[in-house]
Amino acid sequence: MNATIADFSASFPVASARLEGFIAAHHFERPTLVIDIDRVEQQYRALAAGLGPAAIHYAVKANPADAIIDRLVDLGSRFDAASRGEIELCLSHGAHPEAISYGNTVKRASDIAFAHRAGITLFAADAAEEIVKIAEHAPGAQVYIRLLVEASGADWPLTRKFGTTRDTALALMAQARELGLRPVGLSFHVGSQTRDPAMWASTLDQVAAVWAAAEDAGFALDLLNIGGGFPAFYGDAIPHPTAYAAAVMELVTTRFPEGIRIMAEPGRGMVAEAGMIAAEVLLVAKKSEDDLHRWVYLDIGKFSGLAETMDEAIRYQFVTPHDGEATGPCILAGPSCDSADVLYEKRPVALPLALKSGDRVLIRNCGAYTSSYASVGFNGFPPLDVVVI
Ligand SMILES: *Cc1c(COP(=O)(O)O)cnc(C)c1O
Repeated sequence: MNATIADFSASFPVASARLEGFIAAHHFERPTLVIDIDRVEQQYRALAAGLGPAAIHYAVKANPADAIIDRLVDLGSRFDAASRGEIELCLSHGAHPEAISYGNTVKRASDIAFAHRAGITLFAADAAEEIVKIAEHAPGAQVYIRLLVEASGADWPLTRKFGTTRDTALALMAQARELGLRPVGLSFHVGSQTRDPAMWASTLDQVAAVWAAAEDAGFALDLLNIGGGFPAFYGDAIPHPTAYAAAVMELVTTRFPEGIRIMAEPGRGMVAEAGMIAAEVLLVAKKSEDDLHRWVYLDIGKFSGLAETMDEAIRYQFVTPHDGEATGPCILAGPSCDSADVLYEKRPVALPLALKSGDRVLIRNCGAYTSSYASVGFNGFPPLDVVVI
């Protein structure tokens, strides 16, 4: 499996015809995310093929739609849950408690107790207080320690908030053992939307060094959680998911002992390409006659589903009824009365000159971190509607 990045763009075009067909045939009163559930299954199968023996724990926060959880339960997926709500969601769809990891390193004590009662046995931690909470409310549980890793080049880095350093990790394992927990392994997150598998190498080197230090200190680790980071197609070429996952596993197996349990937690890579948003242009305006940019205001913005445009980190692709005609640079903004609700300004978006209010705009490959990031209704704009086909 040695597919290059170039192979992918040639052989794996974005298969969104079914979504576009459904959207073309329907009228929507408000911005709507349409999910092609069979596409989620395809992604699951493609990732599983590349991950081989590694267990997939779907990161529920990427998109918690009932139909997605249902389908993944049917396929035998496991789940990475971050809260009591996500655990209850997975359980209500028939996920086995042993198939759910409680992966948030910041947990309410009563939620740990709930998870323990529900039969969940695997918890993440990166701080001494958390180990104490887990020991008290989930006695005997397995814990893995999340490591702080250096930025890898991901489009959406996750490096600072979570994780701990090598020496603290070793101290936490000792503390866990002393308190009757089972320190079973390590986790990390390479950063979301890590487009090139080669970017994993230095992160895996860092984690392998901590693993070796833990073994030297007498801990018998047997679980490596490689987290998420599996990319989606937003316009820059990425490998096919199977090739990508296989390349990551190759980097993993050359650095870690044979026979250990490996888990991966894809979120974006599982669902982003299964979703398309149907939105509408509310207004096209110029600030002055000679303004070089048009302002295009959509009926969806930062607070109603497009939060990942923060710092213009994730750049979505747009489809309009005038594609193929002459374009000009646009500043793209959401509908709310908050001036932070500007989607793309530093790097304007080329949109057709003919674009006008009332036109439908489709946003490609946005099945991840959109509906789950929408506010309940900031400024009276409703959260993103979700339709599963
Ligand atoms: C959000 C998250 C993921 C999913 O990350 P993606 O980049 O979307 O695949 C995986 N693991 C943990 C612990 C997370 O918080």
